[in-house]
Amino acid sequence: MLKLNNLKNNFLKPLLTVGSLIIISIVMSGCGSVIAEKPNETIVDYFADNGTGNPLAVVQHPAGEYHNGVTYVSYQGPFEDPYVAAYNHKTETWVGPFRAGTSELGRRDGRTKFDNHGKPTVLIDDAGYIHIFYGGHGGDKHHGKNLLGNIHHGANKHSISKRPLDITEWEEVDNISVFGTYNQAIKMDNGDIYLFYRHGAHRSDWVYQKSTDNGRTFAEPESFLKHKRRTDIKAMDSWYAWVGKGSGDEIMVTFDYHICWDGKATKRGHTTERHDAHYMTFNTKTGEWKNVRGETLTMPLHREDAEKQTLVLDTGNDWTFNGTTYLDTDGYPHIATNIGKDLGAKTGGPKLTHHIRWDGKEWLVSDAINSARSTISRGDFVVTEPNDVQFILSDEDGSDGVIAWWQSKDGGKSFTNKKELLRRNKATFAITSMIKNAHPDARVIVAEKSRNTPHRKIYLVGDNGPIKRELKDATLEKDQSTFN
Ligand code: ZN
Repeated sequence: MLKLNNLKNNFLKPLLTVGSLIIISIVMSGCGSVIAEKPNETIVDYFADNGTGNPLAVVQHPAGEYHNGVTYVSYQGPFEDPYVAAYNHKTETWVGPFRAGTSELGRRDGRTKFDNHGKPTVLIDDAGYIHIFYGGHGGDKHHGKNLLGNIHHGANKHSISKRPLDITEWEEVDNISVFGTYNQAIKMDNGDIYLFYRHGAHRSDWVYQKSTDNGRTFAEPESFLKHKRRTDIKAMDSWYAWVGKGSGDEIMVTFDYHICWDGKATKRGHTTERHDAHYMTFNTKTGEWKNVRGETLTMPLHREDAEKQTLVLDTGNDWTFNGTTYLDTDGYPHIATNIGKDLGAKTGGPKLTHHIRWDGKEWLVSDAINSARSTISRGDFVVTEPNDVQFILSDEDGSDGVIAWWQSKDGGKSFTNKKELLRRNKATFAITSMIKNAHPDARVIVAEKSRNTPHRKIYLVGDNGPIKRELKDATLEKDQSTFN
């Protein structure tokens, strides 16, 4: 349905069709010596250079998935459209990126900056079709009334690959709410798909939509976090959530509280002020929501109940930026969250990642993982045994942007910089959550950000650093916008 990017991609198209994979891999291995003889400057360590604005983040997830020897990755490209590429670990070849849909966010009249909220989320269904959710920032006026909140821009959209495990051609399907933003897609063991998102702009409920037919149809949105006017101050209750698969039929949610000040009615105006850390689980079989102690919650959850029942950490005056959650081998949740003063505000201040874990009785909170050298960090983690926690963080070391492993062997009491994966001078890196089912060579996707250009180099980074590509294949058509 959508046009291919360019002829080069068209040439590579057969790579993903199973029948021709063997032939192509023979051809590619035949070319191996030719590639090796070329000077090094024809090989680069990024796979695309047309990332646009803020092209990826922790919240829109998974941004990539490893499946049958191939890592599929996505990011925001020109005109904020979703782009998808794939790396075959066996043949060591890339395909794509291909444009998987058309975003309204990048095509607004009078656009003077990137919106950056409609970054793509990837899911592969049980039939092998690849789904991309993208383009939303609360819906627009022309979409009518949002019954679960307010509106802002864009339209939340869904594209499905035309053929299983083939990223070359996509079809846009109209089966999710246009009001969504911050898509998070989870497939349960029985194949059911849950799409979580905020149903509108700040003053909206968080919801999920369920599909039992590989994402061809979705049930109506169900609210689980309630937005609500406060009666004590001029503000609304609002939330930010990160949703992941728990054990068995369970889904886990970690979230923080956004105090959504009335803009003009208050002296301070609206800010990105967020506080605290919360945690709860959703049993998809019984429909029950519970806190970490197993107490049943009344849904959708209101602030008053959340403060009593789901609070992990009261950060007081400190601000937060919520992160991810996973279970350890004891079945207890671990949480990543950023904590700092005026975090996210223009005044700056430390924005450092902390690790929190439940030990069966209480929540244990770490010091900032990398405070010795940085004032900023963002990332995700892997946990096995309760004491063995490993973060991949994007942080800064002087004027360098760095991606590195940080390891704790004592359950988060202390972290050490274990291995550096990528470093660039005069740059910062945006980072995704861990790729689903990640191959060790391809854990996260990162975007190199520079003040001088809106174009972002996109890297697929694993335990051996970034996966390389030929310069000519990583050089792509860019967004024509001049703003940064
Ligand atoms: Zn707000």
